Amino acid sequence: MTKIQLPSPFTFSQSSLQDYNDCPRRFQLRYIDHLAWPAVETEPTQDYERHQQEGSLFHRMVQQHILGIPTEKLSALANSENLSRWWNAYQKDFGNIKDSKNLKLYPEYSLSAPIGEHRIVAKFDTIAIEPGKKAIIYDWKTYRKRPRDEYLATRWQTRLYTALLVRAGKHLNNDISISPEQIEMVYWFSNFSNEPAKFSYSEAKYKRDWALVEKIVDEISSASKFPMSEDEHPCKFCAYRSYCDRGKKAGEWDDFDGEIDVEESFEIDFEQIGEIAF
Ligand code: SF4
Repeated sequence: MTKIQLPSPFTFSQSSLQDYNDCPRRFQLRYIDHLAWPAVETEPTQDYERHQQEGSLFHRMVQQHILGIPTEKLSALANSENLSRWWNAYQKDFGNIKDSKNLKLYPEYSLSAPIGEHRIVAKFDTIAIEPGKKAIIYDWKTYRKRPRDEYLATRWQTRLYTALLVRAGKHLNNDISISPEQIEMVYWFSNFSNEPAKFSYSEAKYKRDWALVEKIVDEISSASKFPMSEDEHPCKFCAYRSYCDRGKKAGEWDDFDGEIDVEESFEIDFEQIGEIAF
């Protein structure tokens, strides 16, 4: 049997780490075999796709707002019930985000760091920095159900984004490394704007998280097998069901409690990535 080999150098992201975590086979099919999406993830597909498009547009509206496009112009784009509600909630909480003179805002910003022979990249929705004082990572979520904080705390996104900001965010902070204690990660939910999830950070968490990132990258790099997940729950909403003989019918949209990959649908612009030297 041919040994499965991770291409090198490989660019890891929170999505690929999460995929490996949820199901090594899914990681293989998506990132090594590069199989396109052979099956719909949920049904009815129109509902899923509409939510994906709305989520994508919402992210762009926020990005444009932070870049300085007038609110009135952007409001005209909120042409569906969801978008209008999300946009109003965003305006209520963040309509003045640009007014603070001490805060530097980096919307849709990517950071990257080497890890062994590979590299690891994260694309942030927004990083807000008051140099020398604090750094807040904002992630805009259009979830239909508010996840528990305990669930979010263990997601690769939470671990990686905070650790990577310490590791590769120096140039955003007058060339002084951002200390973990200065960092806060905020998940803001467009459907639950009164209940953001906030995570403070610390040196101990940073050491733990980066060690975990190195461990999983090392494990994936040396893996020769990518087994199917024992738990069949992720299969219900997985595009690769037919490859694994784990059911033909997609999960119901009403039961879908996961995240639609809005962020990853933005192309990562490698020219723009702030990176520490190899
Ligand atoms: S269908 Fe299940 S086993 Fe197959 S890749 Fe998806 S999550 Fe893994």
